[in-house]
Amino acid sequence: MATTGRDYYELLGLSRGANEQDIKRAFRKLARELHPDVSEAPDAQERFREVAEAYQVLSNAETRELYDRYGHAGLRGGGFTPGTFDFGNLSDLFSAFFGDDLFGTTRRHARGADLAAEVEIELAEASRGTTREVPFQVAVACSRCGGDGAEPGTAPATCPTCDGAGRVQQVSSSVFGQFVRTQTCPRCDGAGRIVETPCSECDGAGRLLEERRLEVKIPAGIHDGQQIRISGEGHAGDLGGRAGDVYVRVHVKPDPRFVREGNDIFSTIDLTIAEAALGATLTTETLEGPVELEFPPGTQPGEIRVLAGRGMPVLQGFGRGDHRVLVNVVVPRRLTEEQRRLLEEFERHSTDETYKPDEGFFEKLKSAFR
Ligand SMILES: [Zn+2]
Ligand SMILES: [Zn+2]
Repeated sequence: MATTGRDYYELLGLSRGANEQDIKRAFRKLARELHPDVSEAPDAQERFREVAEAYQVLSNAETRELYDRYGHAGLRGGGFTPGTFDFGNLSDLFSAFFGDDLFGTTRRHARGADLAAEVEIELAEASRGTTREVPFQVAVACSRCGGDGAEPGTAPATCPTCDGAGRVQQVSSSVFGQFVRTQTCPRCDGAGRIVETPCSECDGAGRLLEERRLEVKIPAGIHDGQQIRISGEGHAGDLGGRAGDVYVRVHVKPDPRFVREGNDIFSTIDLTIAEAALGATLTTETLEGPVELEFPPGTQPGEIRVLAGRGMPVLQGFGRGDHRVLVNVVVPRRLTEEQRRLLEEFERHSTDETYKPDEGFFEKLKSAFR
């Protein structure tokens, strides 16, 4: 990997006389700003690399002296090559460099886990909005021991391996020089304490599974597969950590009568050839119950009736979609002798005039598809 040609002190914003602490502090501050996890600047990764290289050189007394005396040339002469970085995770990187935790989060107050649940509702319920009782098994703090896992009257002992810190440090060497890696203490699993007399209720876990029912409000207009988040109703956190959230995924059952597209509803209505030719008043289903539709004589298959504002409500918005009813004309499949005779007679009496569209028919057709 090529080294940067830039001045290392300048990169870290330091003077030549900076001490170890200054160097550490400057790098920490810059890395926080420039790490690709955090920064959206297009050159952040390149700048981070440069800053890390500067830190690598200046934080090591040997390479720093070479650089101070001979500049970049001195380092090349000394066989210095910058280490490669794993950009993986900013806090991992920090614990590698400094043995600390960038964001000050520790396992001891970890947030509780999220919970997922699913409910199924009818399309008509999605249209009105509804509520559902959803059962959960949720981890809650044990009331007998107050969540610390120790039998009342006893106290947890400080973990002798980590001395209560919950973490142990491991010193190792690498191209960066010596650094300290911090790990969760294997003995106490990060708690910093060891429960010698476990609580008889929770067996030392500090948490219990509890059956709960949660009333979930499902808003009108919800779409199939959408999730509702209920904040803070998930599993309890460790030792006072915030509880997780509950995510309820809503399945909207397909309704055989309707097709939903966004907020619009589509359905079809069947007219017999006589109803289509003579005109008829028919009942059709909508989300809000049956509606009467009038069809004039000469109604054609493929015509669309728009029931404005009879579709699905707009989720967390105003108004509703439309309901479009598509006309289907059903043709008789089995005729009696008499019916056959009548239809044949009808056909003999038919001319081009019988089927000729009205004035303005094509205008009407166009408006139906708008
Ligand atoms: Zn307990
Ligand atoms: Zn420990």
